[in-house]
Amino acid sequence: MDLASVIRTIPDYPKPGILFRDITTLLGDARGFRRAVDEMVQPFAGRRIAKVAGIEARGFILGGAVAHQLSAGFTPVRKKGKLPAETLRQTYALEYGEDEVEIHVDAVAPGETVLLVDDLIATGGTAEAAIKLLRRAGAEVVGASFVIDLPDLGGAKRIEALGVPVSTLVSFEGH
Ligand code: AMP
Repeated sequence: MDLASVIRTIPDYPKPGILFRDITTLLGDARGFRRAVDEMVQPFAGRRIAKVAGIEARGFILGGAVAHQLSAGFTPVRKKGKLPAETLRQTYALEYGEDEVEIHVDAVAPGETVLLVDDLIATGGTAEAAIKLLRRAGAEVVGASFVIDLPDLGGAKRIEALGVPVSTLVSFEGH
């Protein structure tokens, strides 16, 4: 089972020059989905993980399955304005402008171990914002796990520089 073979690439989406790595084909493939989740779980099997934090929206699908396998809770990291209760908010830079992510203030308890999950790491800006949020809530972020790494964009190094070990399953060159 080659995970890369079930990831579809859409050129020029959402804008010219971007190669969009589409995991809906992986999620729709029973063996591919299971393999991806098993490989994300493997480094943390047997470790005490209190919560898996998934980044909206594809990180919810993978993170929910990973949380179930690890017998952990699940915490959504959402785009601003989506969470109903009191939130913590973190701003981060985009190529043009900025964006914000939020968690509920009580999403993690101080000292809880958290594994961050998303489908893909590019510049690492989104994951860095999520880690800052989780740390502000008192979490100990013990790892960050992604299906896809775009190593030319340096995101994994950026997250490891924050002291969070990164694991990825498939790498693609370029943007
Ligand atoms: P970044 O903050 O630059 O690491 O971007 C990561 C976020 O943007 C993830 O939530 C990805 O789902 C999405 N993303 C960035 N680049 C791509 C790409 N080439 N294909 C698919 N999703 C992407």
